[in-house]
Amino acid sequence: MTKNGDVWHLDRGVVCLKAGKDKAIRRRHPWIFSGAIARVEGDPGSGDVVVVKDAFGAVLGRGCFSPSSQIRVRMLSFDASSVDDDWVRSRIERALRLRRALVLDLRHLQQTTSARLLFGESDGLPGVIVDLYGDTAVLQCQSAGAERLRDIVVSTIIEMTKVRRMYERSDADIRTLEGLPSRKGVLHGPGLEGLVSMKERGLDFDVDVDAGHKTGFYLDQRDSRQQLRDVARGRRVLNCFCYTGGFTVAALAGGARSVVSVDSSQPALELGQHNALKNGFADETHEWLRGDCFEVLRGLHDDGERFDAVVLDPPKFAAKAEHRDRAARAYKDLMIRGLRLLDDDGLLFTFSCSGAVDRAFFRLMAGQAAFEAGRPCRVIAELGHAKCHPVAVSFPEGEYLKGLLLAV
Ligand code: SAH
Repeated sequence: MTKNGDVWHLDRGVVCLKAGKDKAIRRRHPWIFSGAIARVEGDPGSGDVVVVKDAFGAVLGRGCFSPSSQIRVRMLSFDASSVDDDWVRSRIERALRLRRALVLDLRHLQQTTSARLLFGESDGLPGVIVDLYGDTAVLQCQSAGAERLRDIVVSTIIEMTKVRRMYERSDADIRTLEGLPSRKGVLHGPGLEGLVSMKERGLDFDVDVDAGHKTGFYLDQRDSRQQLRDVARGRRVLNCFCYTGGFTVAALAGGARSVVSVDSSQPALELGQHNALKNGFADETHEWLRGDCFEVLRGLHDDGERFDAVVLDPPKFAAKAEHRDRAARAYKDLMIRGLRLLDDDGLLFTFSCSGAVDRAFFRLMAGQAAFEAGRPCRVIAELGHAKCHPVAVSFPEGEYLKGLLLAV
């Protein structure tokens, strides 16, 4: 039940697709764009469940209606059976099983108490994000449908994880495209008393779930941080766009000789330094610089500085497909600057979290950067989402993060 007493899963309308527009849905792609719709029967409101039919009237499944978004319907089910609370619970149960098996195995020596528990479309619950940080789960509803599923998701997560606190960070920009207001605050348990503590592979991090980026931490980079940790011994590391020090702490844990961390955000740098100290790393091994990474990289080069590993994990440069080429230049420029700072046998960890830049294109950029920097490289590994960010094979858009480990 929703707060106003409505049952969320009753059918409130029928969305009939244009001829030929059913193919993607039959392949279980979860989005229906407004242009694919022939007509809407009934008067479904924001987030309401609608039945989706092809041009001949055959039922394809059910989804949630988003009247303000170009993505007019986000699919829940892909057959004629109805959806209800138990249906949502089974999706959540399946998502939690995966995280428990692959990430949150607390018997494992390298303890991890943080993970993305629900990753929207890829876990079959479009727009619903739930991240776990120790005793606190953080919910982010990114679509009108997610908003409608909120109550059943919250009660199920609390029941199945026994989490002490649940917090909401439904304040992402993407909500404005869905006509939804920004909302945050405690949903369950005690109020926040400052930062929330969690572990990632035995390392301690404090997370600002109230004001940090996304829900507070970049959980998607867990496996790449481990890759850096594995090869960090004895290296001088430069961590660009360091945020709260995820890669920095991983490098120090791997035995890096020194780490220089750069970000434009003072609160992020302060929390990064706090996290390094929390893990017992001596002050003189880590330096924190506030500045624009493009300029800092140039300045370090002009000063003749050299590193044995450089991390480039910038924010999203291309929010839309039409920004792709401009973004590509920025990624390439960063990589050129990073490569020029590397000593022989140095390693570059380079990333893009722009959905509009796919793997093949990113690799092309890396190739051009290597050529222009005069630093021929070899690809050591393709990098990407940590295992708690699965990507449904029918939903390639879910793979926003891609990276490369290059050796010069
Ligand atoms: N690597 C981090 C996540 C990086 S998020 C981790 O693993 O946790 C991107 C970061 O880039 C943010 O902290 C943001 O403050 C910073 N940022 C954005 N533009 C920047 C710029 N031009 N120069 C330096 N930092 C920038």
